[in-house]
Amino acid sequence: MEESARLVKDKCRTRYNTDMAKPKASVEVKLEKLREEIRYHEYRYYVLDEPKISDAEFDRLMRELQALEAEHPELVSLDSPTQRVGGQPREGFVKVRHRVPLQSLDNATSFEELGEFDRRVREGSGRPADRGMGYTTEHKFDGLSLSLLYQDGILVRGITRGDGTTGEDVTPNVKTIRSIPLRVDGKELKKLGVPAAFEVRGEAIMTRKAFEELNRQQEREGGKRFANPRNAAAGGIRVLDPNITAGRQLDFFAYQLLADGRSPLKRHSEALHALEKLRFKVSPDWERCRSIEEVIRYCDHWEKKREKLSFETDGVVIKVDEIALWEELGSTAKAPRWAVAYKYAAQQAATRVRNIRVQVGRTGTLTPVADLEPVPVGGVTVSHSTLHNMDEIERLNVHVGDTVVVERAGDVIPHVVKVIQHGKQEKKFRMPQKCPECGGRIHKEEGEVAYRCVSTGCPAKRKESLKHFASRNAINIDGLGEKLVDQLVEKGVVKDPADLYGLKLETLANLERMGEKSAQNLLREIETSKQRDLDRLIYALGIPFVGERTAQLLAEHFGSLDKLAEASREELIEVEEIGPKVAGSIVDFFGEKQNHKLLEKLRRARLPFQCQRPKKKGTKLEGKTFVLTGTLEKWTRDQARELIEAQGGRVAASVSKKTDYVVAGAEPGSKLDKAKKLGVQTLDEKQFAKLVGEA
Ligand code: AMP
Ligand code: ZN
Repeated sequence: MEESARLVKDKCRTRYNTDMAKPKASVEVKLEKLREEIRYHEYRYYVLDEPKISDAEFDRLMRELQALEAEHPELVSLDSPTQRVGGQPREGFVKVRHRVPLQSLDNATSFEELGEFDRRVREGSGRPADRGMGYTTEHKFDGLSLSLLYQDGILVRGITRGDGTTGEDVTPNVKTIRSIPLRVDGKELKKLGVPAAFEVRGEAIMTRKAFEELNRQQEREGGKRFANPRNAAAGGIRVLDPNITAGRQLDFFAYQLLADGRSPLKRHSEALHALEKLRFKVSPDWERCRSIEEVIRYCDHWEKKREKLSFETDGVVIKVDEIALWEELGSTAKAPRWAVAYKYAAQQAATRVRNIRVQVGRTGTLTPVADLEPVPVGGVTVSHSTLHNMDEIERLNVHVGDTVVVERAGDVIPHVVKVIQHGKQEKKFRMPQKCPECGGRIHKEEGEVAYRCVSTGCPAKRKESLKHFASRNAINIDGLGEKLVDQLVEKGVVKDPADLYGLKLETLANLERMGEKSAQNLLREIETSKQRDLDRLIYALGIPFVGERTAQLLAEHFGSLDKLAEASREELIEVEEIGPKVAGSIVDFFGEKQNHKLLEKLRRARLPFQCQRPKKKGTKLEGKTFVLTGTLEKWTRDQARELIEAQGGRVAASVSKKTDYVVAGAEPGSKLDKAKKLGVQTLDEKQFAKLVGEA
């Protein structure tokens, strides 16, 4: 869906309106109706988590809108649901000053300190102790705070908190977050008495589930693990390419509404209700408390239940409900006096390491795990803890027999913080030479932390390898979803991807949630998947560090899977863009015996061992290196790259003396200056078009 949204946008640039037959007004009405419908379903799905239609139906609506917008590019509006993704990578961030600074919060680390906060509030506002004081209590979301600016009800800007006074403009990234409305209902604004120009503050977060998925993907692709959801969310916002943000599945919780620099409503609780009404995602757990005692009960309750939440929190934010008091109480240089953050205690305990063993993850990564003397931490018994990787073991300098501090700091999986006492025998832990699950070869690249089992026959990896193999950009077997793979593997029907090609109708039809009809469809899809090209198969094998693009290069260079499998490290390094790391991983992969077996099975199943794609079209730009900067009018970056590559040229990310041409579109970045400094030839869009024969 994201990809096709980008396509539409590209088409909009180059195609002009050919459909003059339909009167425009009716098209506009239809477009707006469709958009409204999609907005509603986005709201149901991403904000309420209560979808009303299936994903397929949603996709159908989206495609309908995309098609209609492609026919009428002049009617594409910035707030259309198709415009969430499709921005170009930028070359730097623009700094923006906040109209009202985003301040820190004072902390309270005990219930006594909450009592003191209450006393300060009463003193500052002249409220006697025997009168009630209304507070709101909300989770303190652990993510990256954002300020969203709306004009005429339309999202125009998203800015990070930065240092509180000045942040960075991350609008294209923010737009990819589905729970952030690109526009709000004007009628609703009126009803609430909120001006159409307003600001919403809140926290971009990543759910634990999205975080785990991301780390699994990182492992699969050889990337670094993210330490926690907060880092992953913050990193996902502070990137130049919005497509990366879109891939992170971020979420956004709104917690403040401002207009003209202040709250447009009388109470903070009303503001939270208003945000809900405007279809922002507000955590439903917030409460209005009538006294500090109620606040304390709330904090106590959630401190015990925080692990049950689908996202991480590090405390509770308590705010005075009555907005008039906010102004009366004012703020210090650092934080407002009308709010406080109750911070949860870190949940720690000391215990002894009984053993360090190795677990093979779903992507084949070997993870050292410490078995611990069971110990209660924050209400649950902890008996083991991940040590992540060798680097972490060395950093902690931990051995079997050591006494360590374990912590559950929000994450469900406890981790070892430090060693407090070494045991008698300090035996150094070593990674095994062979996979503990299957005896397969272990690949470890110089300079990388991960050790992984490269055998495609490894039982620990079965599900993940199959899911990857069948995924859309790999061999693409539509209908072979996660649940089905789980069943096939658990029942022992499928052990490796090649087994898919021997599946029988009866076997499939007997699975849960599978009828005869869907079994037939699946068999047809499996059959069709044999017609993909070689590069898809190479990618589908799941060789560490071999992504889609590398697979393409390999397919083009070697032309057949057998040639690739026989290639030496040196031969591989000769392929453009392939470095020693990737080469080493490929050699290890094809050196594993169990993988030979898989290849033979795949050959018998008639998968594409030969490259079918015609060789490069032209050679006019053979050996020429291009660097792209700024925005081209006629082409996206990807399209420009394709044009260059189709003629034998290549595109590099940065300018050096070896660069032959720098193509500069509108608003070029620093690359243009660098080109000038180095005396590299620069081309404007026209000259570039001429060179690639597209003028
Ligand atoms: P700190 O950075 O620890 O001083 O805390 C201030 C930060 O807490 C704010 O900038 C927000 O990013 C964050 N925060 C998380 N949840 C909330 C919430 N419900 N209300 C206000 N701020 C919050
Ligand atoms: Zn293994």
